[in-house]
Amino acid sequence: MRALIYPEYGRLEVGEWPEPQAGAGEVLIEVAACGICGSELGSFAANSKRRTPPLVMGHEFAGRIAALGEGVSGLAVGQRVMVNALVHCGGCTLCRRGLTHLCRNRQVFGMNRQGAFAERVAVPAHVVYPLPDSVSPLQGSLVEPLGNGVHVMELVRGNDLETALVCGAGTIGLFCMQAARAAGAQRIAVTDTNDHRLGIAREIGADVTWNARRDDIVAAALAWTEGEGVSLAIDAVGAPESRRDSIRATRPGGDIVWIGLHENEATLTTYDIVLPEKRVIGSYGANDADLRRAIQLFAEGKIALDPWVQTFPLAEGDRVFLQMLRQELPAIKAVLVP
Ligand SMILES: [Zn+2]
Ligand SMILES: [Zn+2]
Repeated sequence: MRALIYPEYGRLEVGEWPEPQAGAGEVLIEVAACGICGSELGSFAANSKRRTPPLVMGHEFAGRIAALGEGVSGLAVGQRVMVNALVHCGGCTLCRRGLTHLCRNRQVFGMNRQGAFAERVAVPAHVVYPLPDSVSPLQGSLVEPLGNGVHVMELVRGNDLETALVCGAGTIGLFCMQAARAAGAQRIAVTDTNDHRLGIAREIGADVTWNARRDDIVAAALAWTEGEGVSLAIDAVGAPESRRDSIRATRPGGDIVWIGLHENEATLTTYDIVLPEKRVIGSYGANDADLRRAIQLFAEGKIALDPWVQTFPLAEGDRVFLQMLRQELPAIKAVLVP
C-alpha cells in the first residue's frame, strides 16, 4: 500500500509499505484523513530518538473500518471512526486509576506502532471511537488535538473563566481557545509571534490578540483586566518566556496550564506562584471522556476549522511535511488524505 515513509533520519518519501493485518483484538482502518502534528515536525527536524526510522508517522486520524481481527465485538466493517493517538494497556496502576492517557505502557501511533500517513493501519479495538454522521472525516482526524484542549479545560473545572489567556496560536492553542469558549470562557486573549496566526485567532473567536515580539504580554493582560490578571492562562508554546508570562499574567488564585513542549528548561521566580497562591498544572494528551466531548463539540458545530486547516493528498505528503516544517504554507494545520 501507499504510505508517507520516514526511511532514515533527514529523509521522507511517498512509497510502498507492507500491507498491515488486523491481529487479534485489532481492526484494520482505511484511513480517510491524518493530520501532521507539530510533534512529528519537531521529531523529524531534531532527528529525535523518540521517532526512529524506518517508520510511518501519523497519529491524528479518522477513517472507516475495513476488517475486524479475531475476537473483536461491538464494531462493524464500514463503520466511520476516529482512533486515539495513544494506545493504553488498561492494566497498569495509572490505567486502573482512570489516567489512561498517562499509561505506563502507552504506545503512540507513528512512534511505537505504524502510523496513519498510509492507506491502511491496524489499531487495537479499544482505542476506536465511532463518529456520528454529522462529523466529517476531516473533523474526525482533529478530534485528538481538540481533545487536548478539552483536557486542559477539564483540569481547571471550578475556575470562573471570566478571562482566559492562550499563549500560542498554533493548532493546540487554537483548539484550547475554542475549548475554553465552549467551556464558558467570557473573554479570551491570544498571543503569538506571527501576525498571520493572530489574525486567524481573531477570525475564529479571540476577543483580543497580542504579538509577543512587540507587546509586553503581562502588561497587556493586566491592563485588559483592570490590573487584576486573567482567571486562566494556557501556555500552548512551552518557551521559557511564555511560561513566565503565563504565570505573571494570571490573577492571584488563578490557574495556569502548561501544555506546550517547545523547551524543557525555564527559569522562574517561585514567589510569583507561592505568594499569590496560583496553581500551575501540566497537561498531556486526552483521556476517553475528553475525546467523547471533542466529538460532541464537532457534532454541535462549535469548532471552526476554516481558514486554518488545509487538506493535501497523501501522494504529496513528503513535500507538504517539509513545507510545514519550513512554515512555507499559510495553513496552521495540514491534513493528509490518502
Ligand atoms: Zn499530535
Ligand atoms: Zn496502562
